Amino acid sequence: MSENESNALIVQKFGGTSVGDPNRIKNVANRVKGYHDRGFKVVVVVSAMGKTTDGLIRLAQEVAEEPSKREMDMLLSTGEQVSIALLAMALHSVGVEAVSFTGAQVKILTDGNFSNARISKIDTKVIENSLAKGKVCIVAGFQGVDVDENITTLGRGGSDTSAVALAAALGARECEIYTDVDGVYTTDPNKVPQARLMKKISYDEMLELASLGAGVLHSRSVEFAKKYGVVIHVRSSFHFSEGTLVVPEEQIMEKLLVTGVTLKSDESRISLTDIPDRPGVAAEVFSRLAESGINIDMIVQSTGQNKLNTISFTVLRKDVESSEKSLNTVLKIWGSGSMSVAKDIAIVSAVGVGMKSHGGIAARMFNAFAKEGINIEMIATSEIKISCVIDKEHGQKALQLLHDVFGLEKTAG
Ligand code: ADP
Ligand code: ASP
Ligand code: MG
Repeated sequence: MSENESNALIVQKFGGTSVGDPNRIKNVANRVKGYHDRGFKVVVVVSAMGKTTDGLIRLAQEVAEEPSKREMDMLLSTGEQVSIALLAMALHSVGVEAVSFTGAQVKILTDGNFSNARISKIDTKVIENSLAKGKVCIVAGFQGVDVDENITTLGRGGSDTSAVALAAALGARECEIYTDVDGVYTTDPNKVPQARLMKKISYDEMLELASLGAGVLHSRSVEFAKKYGVVIHVRSSFHFSEGTLVVPEEQIMEKLLVTGVTLKSDESRISLTDIPDRPGVAAEVFSRLAESGINIDMIVQSTGQNKLNTISFTVLRKDVESSEKSLNTVLKIWGSGSMSVAKDIAIVSAVGVGMKSHGGIAARMFNAFAKEGINIEMIATSEIKISCVIDKEHGQKALQLLHDVFGLEKTAG
């Protein structure tokens, strides 16, 4: 650390695997101690231990078919509360003054959208006071509190967002995200062994990758980082090598055509055919779904014919039954149209800023699928991404295929 780094503020987030057992928590404590001893002011954000959150969800399902959303958030927030306390104790054991806080205690204010709340404000006073006393501050990730003081959670993987939002609010220039892989790869290294570690990636590409299924970062954490200019450093909690920096596009020299590829395989497709072709129909469909708290992913509408139209879209598989329920009501009101559902679909996507200036990427993707007999059910594009809906059965193969076709294992990072 150089002279001018002394007393710099850093936010470090440790994910579930990184705090998965007592030994790992001790390792995290030693790493944090290292920074603290070098003069950094350290704010640590932690996730629940290992698969605790999954376990809590299962527990809720055992007592209620449709658990109350408020109580669900109350339950899930307990996972992180265990980790913060244990990490504080582990730091005390190695002689570091540390204090743990829940989201409510440091006033991480969110909207009232249980299980998928958005952070609206953070009052940094409590943390700043403790930091000024030389203490390491440990904050529970994934949770906040709404204006009525209900505990809320930020959506699965949301501790990343807690960390980056805290970094932004506290004016930290960097937020380290410690996880169980060495950084951001061209695709999930646990699915494609040839995946290549990237040294840097732009905010926009990372945002697309995260929204399209690269679970290594919660997509809202990248939104915060971009908005407030926080550099995210994704790295391994198991060793000390550098990972991947998520930075503004200007800081990336080489603009690759395709930077990364993703696979989402927990989605379903719903198609509404022969529905009326007139103003207000799409509005009705998607307002109904929004009222039931259902998030829509891809939407494709065809050109109407004979005053009839078709709209297809994707939802998370867990939401398919409640979507069907809402839409059956709409179809009844219209008195026309039918619904078909493909429960098991996959969405494969390619992302790269180079697509802005180069054509032909879509054709290469479609050709690769055609050669392997993979049928494309829906296509969606943006300036820097192309996504295809295919049968879930071909998902893994399609991901590998795209990784090969775009030469991702060979290109320089
Ligand atoms: P944590 O508990 O540390 O937040 P996550 O499981 O949320 O960890 O995220 C890390 C995982 O993200 C990795 O184990 C990896 O399987 C997955 N992943 C998906 N896409 C990518 C990618 N492009 N690069 C790196 N990891 C990825
Ligand atoms: N514990 C939460 C989850 O498993 C939040 C997180 O780990 O980021 O989704
Ligand atoms: Mg995560």
